[in-house]
This record gives sequence, C-alpha cells and structure tokens, in this order.
Amino acid sequence: MSAPCLFCGIVSGEIPAEVVYEDDHVLAFRDIQPQAPVHVLIVTRAHVATINDLRAEHEPAMTALLAAAPRIARDQGVADDGYRLVMNCLEKAGQSVFHIHMHLMGGREFQWPPG
Ligand code: AMP
Repeated sequence: MSAPCLFCGIVSGEIPAEVVYEDDHVLAFRDIQPQAPVHVLIVTRAHVATINDLRAEHEPAMTALLAAAPRIARDQGVADDGYRLVMNCLEKAGQSVFHIHMHLMGGREFQWPPG
C-alpha cells in the first residue's frame, strides 16, 4: 500500500496548515519551510501526483489554481511588487510532495535562471 498523501491530509483537515485561501477546487496554505517572506502553496483538492498526470477532467481545477494566484498575491501584499510562481515536476526538478501544487513566493528579489 502506498503512503498516505501529505497534501491530501491537509486538504481533508487531518493535518494542520495555515490556510490562506480556499475554494471548490483548490486550497492554499503557508509553506512549512518558507523560501521567501511570502511562500504559499496552492494545491488541488483532487489528488493528482504530478503535472504529467493531468487530464482534461482536471481543467477546472487547474484554471482555479491559476486564478487563485493573483488573488492570493493581492491578499498577501505582493501583487504590485511582483512574485514568482513555480511548479516542480518530478524529482529532478525538485518535486518532493507528489500531489501537484504551485509555489507562490514574494516579498524579496528572485534570480533568473533559478538554480
Ligand atoms: P516541492 O518540493 O515542489 O514538491 O514542494 C513541496 C513543498 O512542501 C516544500 O516547499 C515543503 O517545504 C512544503 N511542505 C512539506 N510539508 C509541509 C507541510 N506539512 N505544510 C506545509 N508545507 C509543507
């Protein structure tokens, strides 16, 4: 049996998190190891392991995920200065939790290209 999914646990409320936004399709909460003054993870309520596993049925959730980003950025006070959105797909790109999520980071300067 595979291990229970951490972000499914947060979505269901079994695992505590500092939630900053939620709607029918997504939940957003503060990253436990923030890499910027504002570091929020936006996750789909439905379990999808990686971006490679997305199917047409996930379109409403992905639209909601992207639409949530500028809203959260405004709420967190980083929309006007700029912020970074990141989705890591698989280990080589840095994915460590296999439930798709978008990082929203702001409140500092970012470099390009990333490491
Ligand atoms: P990634 O490495 O792109 O898969 O991102 C996973 C993120 O989840 C990392 O930035 C972790 O710091 C974060 N994380 C892991 N466990 C928790 C947790 N319990 N609550 C909030 N964020 C977490």
